Amino acid sequence: MDISIIGSGYVGLVTGACLADVGHHVICVDNDSEKVKQLKAGEIPIYEPGLEEIVHRNVSAQRLHFTGNIQEAVERSQIIFIAVPTPPLPDGDVDLSFVEKVAREIAGVLTDYRVIDKSTVPVKTGEKVVESIKRYNRQGAKFDVVSNPEFLREGCAVADLMHPDRIVIGAQSEQAIDLMKKVYEPFMAPILVTDISSAELIKHCANSFLALKISYINAVSGICEASGADVEKVADGIGMDHRIGRDFLNAGIGYGGSCFPKDIAAFIAISEQLGTPFALLKEVQRINEGQKARFLKAIRDTLWVLREKRIAVWGLTFKPDTDDIRSSVAIELVEQLLREGAHVVAYDPKGMHKARGIKAIADAEFASSALEAVTDAEALIIATDWNEFANVDLAVLKDKMRTPIVFDGRNLLNPETMRQFGFDYYSIGRASVKPQ
Ligand code: NAD
Repeated sequence: MDISIIGSGYVGLVTGACLADVGHHVICVDNDSEKVKQLKAGEIPIYEPGLEEIVHRNVSAQRLHFTGNIQEAVERSQIIFIAVPTPPLPDGDVDLSFVEKVAREIAGVLTDYRVIDKSTVPVKTGEKVVESIKRYNRQGAKFDVVSNPEFLREGCAVADLMHPDRIVIGAQSEQAIDLMKKVYEPFMAPILVTDISSAELIKHCANSFLALKISYINAVSGICEASGADVEKVADGIGMDHRIGRDFLNAGIGYGGSCFPKDIAAFIAISEQLGTPFALLKEVQRINEGQKARFLKAIRDTLWVLREKRIAVWGLTFKPDTDDIRSSVAIELVEQLLREGAHVVAYDPKGMHKARGIKAIADAEFASSALEAVTDAEALIIATDWNEFANVDLAVLKDKMRTPIVFDGRNLLNPETMRQFGFDYYSIGRASVKPQ
């Protein structure tokens, strides 16, 4: 099938590459001319495991193309996926101006029957997209708007797209449903057909439920610390119940990233606008914020004064195996440490180039390796659970540090081993280790 994807970021580019890989003809569009130039030159603007290979393979096979020209792409496609940003507004509501702009641009060139698909949006947005296209389409084109939310996880986006748990198609017409089923046929995944509003809600419900699991175990982690219990054991114990499951029950310094914080805020906002406030999700947010505050308090309690202290931070991305630092808790932590006068030396395996561009942490020093970051450090903070950090040689780490104090915000290391190596070690929801 001929498909275009408007917006070639984390979702659009991976979706485009995977759709091309199963045999479709895909044009990825972006209005960032630098990004299009890079992609045309064979450079991949984001880090995502396996993406480079799949892009190159499909470009060579002439199934994947890149352009800045939305008109040309729409004219050639039966299906148009919209994968542009839907960032949060200051009040938590969603900025839908990117989606609206693309809807207008598509409307300007739409002639015969087309299906338009889209980004993560609040329930009822599909109706607005339909209205907008009708308003700006002078040709009176016949079209359908479908909600086909994306569930990929950065860091394993290619695998998630190739082997999805489910594909949700929210549509009004049989013609649109048939076309969308044809798009996804090669993936051989379960397909759930719904109305548009249900599909839109599924995405917000899925993300907010996952965030709820994270906040749940984080609240439990506080109780574990106060009572001497071990949150990992508690999570194992409840996670072994198949009705609950162990996934997303890892205590830590809270969720971040470009999706959870904004999607939960957006779900709260739309539920209020609909007159059915979702108060539970406000508590999810509150616990998430509290978790960062509790971690910072533990750091202050141990180090006493942060001013002039040399503090290493391992991890800047919002999760491992990505270079994405949007709304990363690690970045927030670095900002706060700098505000309190600490000398921060940060290192991340893939997120350094993006982190260097962030004004709020411009005073941080960026090390070229994890061990360089900890040299002479008075404390180490583990903010992202990269595998590289889990495999560190603890004897070398201790030797490099000025004072061997580790704050593990992702429970990446083992308290017993840390005790044996003589670290002062704080992690989340587990007993602290103090050197004898
Ligand atoms: P992104 O910022 O990585 O990519 C968006 C791209 O759209 C950018 O390259 C931008 O230049 C481009 N763009 C913006 N306006 C445009 C326009 N008018 N015409 C053409 N291109 C335009 O964002 P993303 O992470 O890919 O997210 C896109 C959507 O997918 C969001 O709604 C997000 O919530 C949703 N989503 C994201 C993820 C994720 O893990 N990143 C997962 C599921 C769903």
